[in-house]
Amino acid sequence: MQKKNYYNVIIVGGGISGTALLYTLSKYTNIKEIALFEKYNDIATLNSNAKANSQTLHCGDIETNYTLKKAIKTNKTATLLENYGKLYNYNEKYMFKIRKMALGVGDKEVKFIKKRYKEFKNDFPYMQLWNKKKLKEIEPALLKGRDKNENIIAMGTDERYSAIDFGEIAKSFVRNAKKENESIDIYFNKEVESITQLGDKFKLSINDGKYYFADYVVVNAGAHSLLLAHKMGYGKNYSCIPIGGSFYYSKMNKLKSKVYTIQNPKLPFAAIHGDPDIIHDNTIRFGPTAIALPKLERYHHAHFIDFLDSLNPSSEVFNVFYDLLSDKDIRDYAIKNFLYEIPGIRQKLFAKEVQKIVPSLTKDDITFAEGVGGLRPQIIDKKKKKLLLGEAKIDTKKGIVFNMTPSPGATSCLGNALEDTKLICKFLHATFKANKFKKELL
Ligand SMILES: Cc1cc2nc3c(=O)[nH]c(=O)nc-3n(C[C@H](O)[C@H](O)[C@H](O)COP(=O)(O)OP(=O)(O)OC[C@H]3O[C@@H](n4cnc5c(N)ncnc54)[C@H](O)[C@@H]3O)c2cc1C
Repeated sequence: MQKKNYYNVIIVGGGISGTALLYTLSKYTNIKEIALFEKYNDIATLNSNAKANSQTLHCGDIETNYTLKKAIKTNKTATLLENYGKLYNYNEKYMFKIRKMALGVGDKEVKFIKKRYKEFKNDFPYMQLWNKKKLKEIEPALLKGRDKNENIIAMGTDERYSAIDFGEIAKSFVRNAKKENESIDIYFNKEVESITQLGDKFKLSINDGKYYFADYVVVNAGAHSLLLAHKMGYGKNYSCIPIGGSFYYSKMNKLKSKVYTIQNPKLPFAAIHGDPDIIHDNTIRFGPTAIALPKLERYHHAHFIDFLDSLNPSSEVFNVFYDLLSDKDIRDYAIKNFLYEIPGIRQKLFAKEVQKIVPSLTKDDITFAEGVGGLRPQIIDKKKKKLLLGEAKIDTKKGIVFNMTPSPGATSCLGNALEDTKLICKFLHATFKANKFKKELL
């Protein structure tokens, strides 16, 4: 069937953010003409793919760099995705109840976990405090080989869905959106090269020389979102540093839970954790590492010019880097993570990190997972002169929105989609079926 070249809404990017929006628009609004453009030949081939990310539904309960307030907010968006999974019976298919915990090692961290447990108890009543004896019973790998004088404790739960295949969920969003609205168009192998505003419409220029028009555009293009915004003159106060994250595999099937270590509150990245891989049997993953890379996609041809364009270097960006690297903890972290990528030495160095979780694992028990891991587009706010902790949105209020989605961007896909759906409906005077959304997903 001949596809159209004009739509009410065009979504750029077929990762979990773009597909979640496609789903909410198709199911919870009366907007009919919707299209999604994806530059590769499938949905979720980059950061939303299960190979690229940590497969964690971040609820805020084990992410120890979140304040209680941020944890409550994150939990709300995580719950939307959990409810979506339940609505379509994806339990134990794409989302799994793997036991999860935040592990404290040593007296200082034990004290920290106990304090945090008390602070979180009211809002996260399902969380439990597990002492050494209990941990030995439920996750013996944490104790085996550990110095018997080393104090450990964890706060965790068996009750929440904690592991999720965001890539499969993204594909399910497209399938379920099509069931609601047969007329939506999905374009693969179509890279949006530039967007221009022409009166009250937007013209999208595609790499094959074609043009498409829309009343409203949402750019959910991962690390490329800011690049497209800059090309239109938006978001110049933001700069993007792509942070690669790699993983190590272990076939020593010693861990049954998702075990997160204590995070450094100064850093926006998840601390190293270990967990069973949900896409490879009998494989435990440790990671992710965090390394700044001069490209916008991890494993594709590096577009250095695009990187420079979205970094948008300036004295403010330099100052943020300078301030970050003046902090000894951050400097040590950056150096350590750089070394974790260097063949020959990385395995031995990373094994030390892993031993905090599973003391009996040695360098011979882990291997660098080649071709695994993605990129987090971390955003620097030049005006505030700081690295932002999570996602960022540029709402131009003119009918185009750009989303930048580092972690926990996959968890908050439906939260972001809800926000954008409301913006779109308001702008286009369309109807948002709020009660239906509330009943099914909230
Ligand atoms: C190591 C690592 C671990 C992570 N762990 C977690 C986790 O455990 N939990 C969590 O919630 N989040 C996690 N994240 C973050 C999460 O992966 C991302 O927030 C999420 O995948 C972003 O989804 P997205 O759809 O916005 O972007 P992407 O998945 O990057 O999708 C963007 C899409 O846009 C397409 N595109 C780009 N440019 C164009 C263009 N010009 N035209 C057309 N299409 C275009 C791309 O091909 C791609 O398909 C992790 C990230 C990394 C790197």
